[in-house]
Amino acid sequence: MFRIESEDGNARTGKLKLAHGTIKTPFFMPVATKAVAKFIDSGDFKQSKTQCIISNSLILHLTAGSDAIKKLGGIHKFMNWGKGIFTDSGGFQMYSEQMLIETKAHGVLFKHPKNGKKFFCSPEGSMDIQQKIGSDVAMCLDDMPKFGAKKERILDSMKKTYEWAKRCKAHHEKINRKKQLLFGICQGGLYPELRKKSAEMISSIGFDGLAFGGLALGEPISKMFSAVKVGMGSMPKEKPKYLMGVGFPSQIIEAVSMGVDCFDSTYPTMTARHNYLLTMNGVVEIDKNRYAEDGNPVEKECDCYICRNFSRAYIHHVSKTKEPAGYRLRTLHNLMFMARLMERIRTAIKENELNKLKKELIKIK
Ligand SMILES: [Zn+2]
Repeated sequence: MFRIESEDGNARTGKLKLAHGTIKTPFFMPVATKAVAKFIDSGDFKQSKTQCIISNSLILHLTAGSDAIKKLGGIHKFMNWGKGIFTDSGGFQMYSEQMLIETKAHGVLFKHPKNGKKFFCSPEGSMDIQQKIGSDVAMCLDDMPKFGAKKERILDSMKKTYEWAKRCKAHHEKINRKKQLLFGICQGGLYPELRKKSAEMISSIGFDGLAFGGLALGEPISKMFSAVKVGMGSMPKEKPKYLMGVGFPSQIIEAVSMGVDCFDSTYPTMTARHNYLLTMNGVVEIDKNRYAEDGNPVEKECDCYICRNFSRAYIHHVSKTKEPAGYRLRTLHNLMFMARLMERIRTAIKENELNKLKKELIKIK
């Protein structure tokens, strides 16, 4: 299901086989929380060469309904997307003031963000929801403490995450009829000894892949990478590794050089909404007046729909006038940028030139 094909230091390329196609790793997943992203649907993902997306099972369950999605043939059919889909469990929603009521010993009590209705999510319940939705990769329900939480809380979250992970695995084995993979998530905050311990505990359960949770929350980047490094040291090499919530190109390259294979973030879609276009030469703030009469494409080397068909001046115009179509066009380019970036990273690893690429791309942050 995961095969390493080439290595450059700790970085590697490989293939991750899913029920819906095989993904070339390392790869980046755009966030499609409700089986759609802002201004972008499955046709646009396809057009921007996206290999895999991540959706949120808890939000889908509370909106479309997991029973309804199952009845309609599963999430791939529901959103007309034939490629890879990960689903997050809802652990991240513990970060939401709007949704979290309380973390209990056996699960999490949430409230519906719109109608205030209470909803209890247990590890088994989360597995049931993700199985009904029918994603290719389910994520364990983890206990994610808030950024800056005290050491006792981090320790408590680590223990709960381990207990819940064992329950997720046991239940998933019973119900999995769709070749759905299951990834475990390690916690441990920024404490090296806790992160190491959590990585060891989660690795011992035997998941298909391993993820880092509770990072990329605004902590100093050096501390995030120290946590990743110590965690990586305690995880088996042959498993795919997923650093949740990281999308800055420079951070992706750094994590890839440590051996991380998988990423997700709202970074490319969110920056697009704020008129930032990502290019290999740095960010283009397209609403700035200097682009008003610029007849060049956003990026000459990009063969996305907007770079093939429109000038910077036109994208500037639809951005400046806040036209809804502009949001979609900018997002399409940024998603294509992420696909191109990951392709360049994979090629660099194959050619043993990741360090060279790192230096070359230093300007893109
Ligand atoms: Zn483009």
